[in-house]
Amino acid sequence: MLRCTGFQKRVRAMRCVPCGAEMHLMQVVEDDTMMVRGYEHHIFECSGCREVERRLTFNRARRSPTGRMVQIDSKDGTRVAKDTKSGRVVMHNQNRERLWELCNWIGWRVVN
Ligand SMILES: [Zn+2]
Repeated sequence: MLRCTGFQKRVRAMRCVPCGAEMHLMQVVEDDTMMVRGYEHHIFECSGCREVERRLTFNRARRSPTGRMVQIDSKDGTRVAKDTKSGRVVMHNQNRERLWELCNWIGWRVVN
């Protein structure tokens, strides 16, 4: 005898906080206020009560990295980003956070 068991989606669904129903992704808006590219606002709408939730997510895949990987080091009181392959200093900045942001902005992957 053939029995229909239905499809079971193994997707982690977003649940609505007030009513517990499944939320659907309605819209993805790229964020341009952040220093680092790759942030997106995901806007979900509840299938039950129409509650809307916004989530800021970081989408690594969206970035188009040049393939360069850099390591952040200190040198002579400043911070430097070194290419992990060649060992060459490709950028420097006084502030480590700022340097990290800049590298990410360009699309370099910071390994440390
Ligand atoms: Zn709801």
